[in-house]
Amino acid sequence: MATVKKRVGVIGAGIVGIAAASYLQRDGHEVFVVDPDPPGEGASFSNAGCFNPSSIVPMSMPGTLRKVPQWLADPLGPLAIRWRYLPWLAPWLVRFIRAGTPVLVEAEARALSGLLGPCFAALVPLLKDAGAEHLVRRLGHLVVYRSAAGAAKDAAAWELRRQNGIGWEELGADELRQFDPQLSREYVRGILLTANGHTTDPQALVARLADAFVRNGGKLHRARALELVLEGARLRAIRTEAGELPAEAAVVAAGAYSKPLAAALGDRIPLESERGYHLMIRDPEVSPRVPTNDADGKFVATPMANGLRFAGTVELAGLAAAPDWRRARMLLEQGRRLFPGLATRYPEERISLWMGHRPSLPDSLPVIGPSRRSPDVFYAFGHGHVGMTGGPMTGKLIAELVSGRPPAIDLGPFRASRFA
Ligand SMILES: Cc1cc2nc3c(=O)[nH]c(=O)nc-3n(C[C@H](O)[C@H](O)[C@H](O)COP(=O)(O)OP(=O)(O)OC[C@H]3O[C@@H](n4cnc5c(N)ncnc54)[C@H](O)[C@@H]3O)c2cc1C
Repeated sequence: MATVKKRVGVIGAGIVGIAAASYLQRDGHEVFVVDPDPPGEGASFSNAGCFNPSSIVPMSMPGTLRKVPQWLADPLGPLAIRWRYLPWLAPWLVRFIRAGTPVLVEAEARALSGLLGPCFAALVPLLKDAGAEHLVRRLGHLVVYRSAAGAAKDAAAWELRRQNGIGWEELGADELRQFDPQLSREYVRGILLTANGHTTDPQALVARLADAFVRNGGKLHRARALELVLEGARLRAIRTEAGELPAEAAVVAAGAYSKPLAAALGDRIPLESERGYHLMIRDPEVSPRVPTNDADGKFVATPMANGLRFAGTVELAGLAAAPDWRRARMLLEQGRRLFPGLATRYPEERISLWMGHRPSLPDSLPVIGPSRRSPDVFYAFGHGHVGMTGGPMTGKLIAELVSGRPPAIDLGPFRASRFA
């Protein structure tokens, strides 16, 4: 059956919105994207750039709660909560804890596996079309542990990966040294996820994909979307700061800012910002062979085109609070522990800091699917820690939904109504 061509508006020019716009365009739809900022300036700027189909382990696991006090007590720890924000955060936290039962975690991992597994199959056609293949490397991803006890604590997560068909190579202390001689001898165990990859510049990648979208006839409107205008259940337009843009279908891909747009359509989705930081060193003395994840410190060191990026940490403080740059600066201290060859101090002009909002849902699964009130409005947000990896496949799924084809994976676990 031929696809009915529609005028489709995509709200948000991050990796998810641009991937959706690109796939919709491939289906022959007339597509525009609205965003007040240039493509790839949101969370899609600040991340570690990893394409990790192995990241199927939900954030809330059995036992996560037990680790929280120790994380919060450590000023270099991976988690911080602004206590003033707690009254707003509490309902999300309750759902987060409830999502971490063994049975739910298995189902969440299975669902994530379906979304993240086809990452490269969905990404590569977009890269080819955009001439952006040089921005992606498929060299693997290394997870390192400071002790056998640290590795043992992650056993459940590795078992979940094994059950979902993820493969890896185990490296002992000597093999780790051979793989990357720059690594501190403090690390005694490594796991190399050979099927993973990374981009050397996440922002440039999204910008390139957006350029290709425009070259192929797509439109970018620099404006904030304010409302989805319905007539009965049917979409008429997207109202923006710059006026109404007529549309027959819309995709809400505004990352951490998607909540009010969905709420206005009757979908109360517990979307929260898990704020993350990065610190980048220009012309670093050392650089890892592949993105290297310090499993105890819970941060990633990624070799990027413009330097070495340390990215990670979770800060629960909402969308409005000012960044706490100490959360970014501590990544340097952590990073030096990983790579002792780094200098103890850097002039400010060689350092850059960034904070981004991971759009996070308590069960670590995004919302992908139609809205409650209109069959013309589709959600594509809430990718949390894995939006770079899950963005391309989400784009493909959204095109299937808008074009009326059966989606390639079961979207039941991603439905908006699961929070009703
Ligand atoms: C420190 C850190 C490290 C990370 N590392 C990784 C990693 O290694 N691998 C991985 O897969 N993921 C990683 N992530 C997660 C990943 O970055 C996000 O999940 C992903 O970027 C989300 O993409 P998005 O397109 O949904 O949102 P965004 O990139 O935030 O894009 C949303 C866009 O919507 C726009 N917008 C907002 N409101 C409106 C509105 N009303 N109208 C129009 N436009 C609007 C914004 O301006 C923005 O451009 C990391 C995140 C952080 C913070």
